[in-house]
Amino acid sequence: MAKTEGDRVLVDGYGRIARDLRISVTDRCDLRCQYCMPEEGLDWLDADEQLSFAEIERLAGIFVSLGIESIRLTGGEPLVRARLTDLVAALSGLGLEDLSLTTNATSLERHAARLKEAGLDRVNVSLDSLLSHRFAEITRRDALDKVLRGVGAALEAGLSPVKINCVVVAGTNDDEILDFVDFARSTGCEVRFIENMPIGADGRWHADSVVPAARIVELIEDVHSLLPVVRGSAPAASYRFADGSAGGVGVVASVTEPFCSDCDRLRLTADGNLRTCLFAHEETDLRTPMRAGASDDELRAVILSSVSDKGPGHAIGQMGFRQPVRVMSRIGG
Ligand code: SAM
Ligand code: SF4
Repeated sequence: MAKTEGDRVLVDGYGRIARDLRISVTDRCDLRCQYCMPEEGLDWLDADEQLSFAEIERLAGIFVSLGIESIRLTGGEPLVRARLTDLVAALSGLGLEDLSLTTNATSLERHAARLKEAGLDRVNVSLDSLLSHRFAEITRRDALDKVLRGVGAALEAGLSPVKINCVVVAGTNDDEILDFVDFARSTGCEVRFIENMPIGADGRWHADSVVPAARIVELIEDVHSLLPVVRGSAPAASYRFADGSAGGVGVVASVTEPFCSDCDRLRLTADGNLRTCLFAHEETDLRTPMRAGASDDELRAVILSSVSDKGPGHAIGQMGFRQPVRVMSRIGG
């Protein structure tokens, strides 16, 4: 749905316009990535605490009427929510410019073709190691083969560009950066190296675990010349290969080079809270007014007020930074 500049009304106090909405459909997950979730899992939401597909669809329509152009479904692990393709089909009718999914891909092989048919444009797959034993250590599950088959199925189904999200943790998987680059070149995927952020459930994050994005780019450029791709408000600085190879690489420097001043993202949690920043300490409950019978106009007013209060940025690494109580898997990355 083409929009004019005047139609885009989700403006915050710093002049940023929200165009991208991440919707978490569940807080549950079948993996237990060390930097994200404890081994025993978390205290999951009850079914009635979670937004129904009808509620998500209604809120998504309201956000689109306010200028949201792209929606990414996430979690927890979105593919553990039953009949996710039904939600994709409903959202694909909203006239979005981009409808995508972030997944750990353990069950993507089974779902890729139907997701594409339902109207999904593309997927981001999280993958932190190409070595089976290390993958199992990081995620506490032995599932690398399934994930690789999922990536293959996504490519085959045309859910492209397939982007691979690789959280780089110093001393854990930083020796695989060039292997991931080879993976990008041989599969045509874009591998995006993400700095480890203080948003995990165990509170064990340490600045020393962050491999700076600039260092990652240097490492790659020692071997392959890179050409920058125009970035816009995307969190990743992306590059293609100067030798014309397929695939690409990107870096998400959330910690060392925050991009808060260009942020165009909002997040809706699985229990219906609107968050204007991953690291915000406040959130706005949309589920309660919606279930109490609020009209679309009333919900629009609540959303506009929340967005207008969006803070300037996350301040990781600065004095006084506090990790939000709500962890990544409960927000939706
Ligand atoms: N389960 C899905 C997955 O892993 O793709 C979707 C949800 S997951 C929370 C979304 C993204 O957040 C994943 O790419 C994951 O690697 C990333 N993530 C989780 N914890 C992180 C952290 N502490 N720092 C950086 N990225 C993180
Ligand atoms: Fe699950 Fe994704 Fe968190 Fe890993 S990063 S534990 S796959 S929600």
